[in-house]
Amino acid sequence: MIKKLLSVLLVGLMSLSIVACSPKNTTTTAGSVKDGTYTSTTAGHNGELTVEVIVKDGKIESVKVTEHAETPVVSDLAISDVPAKIVETQSLNVDTVSGATVSSKAILTAVEECLKEAGFDVESLKTVSVTKEKAEDVTLDADVIVVGAGGAGLAAAVTANQEGASVIVIEKMPKIGGNTILSGGALNAVDEGSETAKENKDSVELHFTQTYEGGDKKGDPELVRTLVENAWDGVEWLQSLGMEFKPGTFTVLGGLWPRAHKPVDPVGTGFFKTYQNYVDKNENIEILLNTTAEELIVKDGEVVGVVAKGETGNTVTLNAKNAVVIATGGFGQNVEMRQEYNTLWKDLGENVKSTNHPGATGDGITLAKAVDAELVGMEYIQMLPMGDPKTGSLSGNIEKGVENRIFVNKDGNRFVDEGARRDVMTSALMEQKDAQMWVVLDSHDYPTGDEINNFNESLNQLIAEGRAFKGETLEDLAKEINVDAANLTKAVEEFNKAVKGEAADPFGRTLFKDPIDQGPYYAALRIPTVHHTMGGVKINKDAQVINTKGEVVKGLYAAGEVTGGIHGANRLGGNALADILVFGRIAGKNAAADK
Ligand code: ADP
Repeated sequence: MIKKLLSVLLVGLMSLSIVACSPKNTTTTAGSVKDGTYTSTTAGHNGELTVEVIVKDGKIESVKVTEHAETPVVSDLAISDVPAKIVETQSLNVDTVSGATVSSKAILTAVEECLKEAGFDVESLKTVSVTKEKAEDVTLDADVIVVGAGGAGLAAAVTANQEGASVIVIEKMPKIGGNTILSGGALNAVDEGSETAKENKDSVELHFTQTYEGGDKKGDPELVRTLVENAWDGVEWLQSLGMEFKPGTFTVLGGLWPRAHKPVDPVGTGFFKTYQNYVDKNENIEILLNTTAEELIVKDGEVVGVVAKGETGNTVTLNAKNAVVIATGGFGQNVEMRQEYNTLWKDLGENVKSTNHPGATGDGITLAKAVDAELVGMEYIQMLPMGDPKTGSLSGNIEKGVENRIFVNKDGNRFVDEGARRDVMTSALMEQKDAQMWVVLDSHDYPTGDEINNFNESLNQLIAEGRAFKGETLEDLAKEINVDAANLTKAVEEFNKAVKGEAADPFGRTLFKDPIDQGPYYAALRIPTVHHTMGGVKINKDAQVINTKGEVVKGLYAAGEVTGGIHGANRLGGNALADILVFGRIAGKNAAADK
């Protein structure tokens, strides 16, 4: 293990040393700064990233990322904005883009090398004070105002526009995508009667039962029915907009059944490529980034607009002729709210990490509460046993589907049915040493190791970074990850017997495919992490917001993770993408019609 860490450190140092800058065509100008074209290569998120910096008349004339292997859509803003801001501010005092921090930092590191080579005092460039002039206050009108450009918000916006409404979407972050873009892309939907459904012995009814019972019957059955009955229609709608899905289905962590459809594009990027494409090609639909909703405007008991803050602190007033849709996502990153409402877990304080993007702070719940919206199921906060040990994110999760991997604790023993509900698996993990576990699998899903996981990372790259480990035999792997080899071997042997039907699984597991018997073997360390907040604003099946008196709040719709009452006490894996799609579309359609 120590040897492994040392070699990882060496690999890290080697990749750092790549950040050497090669100047071309330099000429000396005033002071010690040399004009010219400089290039530098450094390690990005997925591989090498190269920048080209042109210095002219002692100034930073241009910065370009010329080569990279970063994840499309997720890293787009970092690739375009960070270089532009360096030039605009003539400084290295540029914020990283949230959700693309590694890519942003890589760009800054490489540019710094170039500027150092050119003779700039890079330390002072990092502290240049950058102030923005406040933009003017503006008032904008549209038929439908959507708050939040994540999965639910953009499904609502596109649908409303297809129904003939003019739409403005406001998004507080500098990019679209929310949590949805970070997801592994598993979308539960049953194409009733299809070959796939028949093969999986699946039906809309089974989807209903598993969702309702998997949430301890705490969800509203009418909403659950709406979800499962419209999920496949949602997939076909996405396909009609050009989004592509891989054939077949898989079982996602805590999904209980093989009914998750996987987009062709990595992580959640396919949804946003599709929606952005629609927005680019159609009239009367626009997205305002860096615009944060702060208050709903109410007139004569009806919601008629939103007051928001623009990037420079200016006020943006948005009047909705028809209706407002709240689609601001959950509150997984709001520690205060987690602590206020949590009853399921011992502690969800600051030390507990989250898979969520930084904008998941429950703003929509505050907005809706101010107009007397009822909140439901706020205490139901979902944890996954699958967080990255450093960040809590889903990055570095090497499982491809439930069937082909097991979990072992630090002693090398299995401890839970790895096909169980998410809350069951996380509770069991919390009882293990250091509340940490190893996901263990073999080469069935990774024949060469160059294949990518569900989060667009190559397994070999994760190994090089010391975030996943490899052993030619189980004994080798046990040594790498410092667990008892006899225990690990026995755990795998028992699992394999269950896979082959030779014995019952000791933990009652029933979801299997292949035995774990093809070296090399792989493992990655994982921790409990906050993932999804099942509670939120109460809605009816038409996505209308309901107030504390049980009445519809006129002019107000909500969809996605900001709502409560669908998933009950535990959400099935793969049901969030179905939820945002189904209820996003319903909210969009009804908001467009609400004149
Ligand atoms: P869902 O899965 O429900 O669609 P997401 O997390 O994908 O949720 O998207 C919610 C989006 O709403 C995020 O992009 C988030 O930054 C945005 N958002 C949250 N609060 C606000 C706010 N006050 N104003 C504008 N956008 C917001």
